[in-house]
Amino acid sequence: GQAPARPAEKKAEIPEEHYRFHLHPGYQQLRIINDGASRLGVKNPFFKLHEGTAGAGTQISGSGYINYASYNYLNMSGDPVVTAAAKAAIDRYGTSVSASRLVSGERPVHRDLETEIAALYGVDDAITFVSGHATNVSTIGYLFGPRDLVLHDELIHNSVLQGIQLSGARRLPFPHNDWEALDAILQEQRHQFERVLIVLEGIYSMDGDYPDLPRFVEIKQRHRAFLMVDEAHSLGVMGARGYGIREHFGLDGKDVDIWMGTLSKTLAGCGGYIAGETALVEHLKFLAPGFLYSVGMPPSVAAASLEALRRMKELPERVATLQARGKYFLEQAKAVGIDTGTSTGFAVVPAITGSSLRATRLSAALFKQGINVQPILYPAVPEKSARLRFFISCMHTEEQIRLTIQEIIKAAQRDEA
Ligand code: PMP
Repeated sequence: GQAPARPAEKKAEIPEEHYRFHLHPGYQQLRIINDGASRLGVKNPFFKLHEGTAGAGTQISGSGYINYASYNYLNMSGDPVVTAAAKAAIDRYGTSVSASRLVSGERPVHRDLETEIAALYGVDDAITFVSGHATNVSTIGYLFGPRDLVLHDELIHNSVLQGIQLSGARRLPFPHNDWEALDAILQEQRHQFERVLIVLEGIYSMDGDYPDLPRFVEIKQRHRAFLMVDEAHSLGVMGARGYGIREHFGLDGKDVDIWMGTLSKTLAGCGGYIAGETALVEHLKFLAPGFLYSVGMPPSVAAASLEALRRMKELPERVATLQARGKYFLEQAKAVGIDTGTSTGFAVVPAITGSSLRATRLSAALFKQGINVQPILYPAVPEKSARLRFFISCMHTEEQIRLTIQEIIKAAQRDEA
């Protein structure tokens, strides 16, 4: 930061933008973008009001839509058994635990959930936070410091970037899924740092592709680094039973030092988890500020996620259907020449349109045809790869998928005309 200005004889006026929100540069930029879009007749695609449970279908303004904008992968949000578990937890524990877990916020359902998450990975223990985003921020922000290096895939989620910023560690992105580039950086720089963390995602949330995890495990072992995998979009999606990228590759849970995931996707709740060895989990539980100084998760949410996890194990056919529908969407889209980028058909299939404006127009056109899909715009992705992002659910039917692909093509042709 700058040194404070010395008191002058006559103090200059404080510029208005330093004490008014409407002159904040971020807000000014938002206004310019929104005004520009409305001048071009483009409707704002954000903050649509959904009137019920959102899965493969949803209701907006009284009409039904085929929905590709919710990551309710295994249809556990809205599942009657999951809902009943949440209600029973409210009856028993109320709606809030009214304190940090450390103080008086601990309930059996928290530990039950964490024990089952740890068992899923075959590791010692797990800890849950009240937000998935905060899980990454708190964990990375707390565990690493200015003498450390964090290497991450260039497409890593914002929550990881925020965590690194908080930690004060040196940050270096490596090209997407490029383990050779990562190896080269470590070869050259490992010895300049104390601890080194490598962060990957199980499934990349904008692209629907995944890393060659065994390669990364070998590299982290050779260079004595920590490896963290964010399974937000791979839990319930990859592996024959939905156990995630570890199951997909047949790895040991201990091959990865920090397993991270969210409760908000497959697990039909809200929050995040870290799973790993006792020394990691215990450390976070007693010392990570984002856990320590934050309320415990509402028991209804923990109970919902626990029930969703149990149902995932009981109903592997939902995982199989999700995988089949994802592959079907990908094949159908590719067959008609839609640019699906590097998607593997797990959970996420993008239709890359190449400009934020075009993606927004196509999203609006599909909405008119009863299909709800979100455009992903710059700066979430580079402008040249703005896209429609389709989240697949196990409840999407092949017929819905065929119809959707036809409508994408029609909308794209009309847009060009
Ligand atoms: N990690 C990844 C990869 C994500 O995609 C997200 C959000 N979609 C998060 C973390 C944050 O999780 P949550 O939305 O549950 O806070």
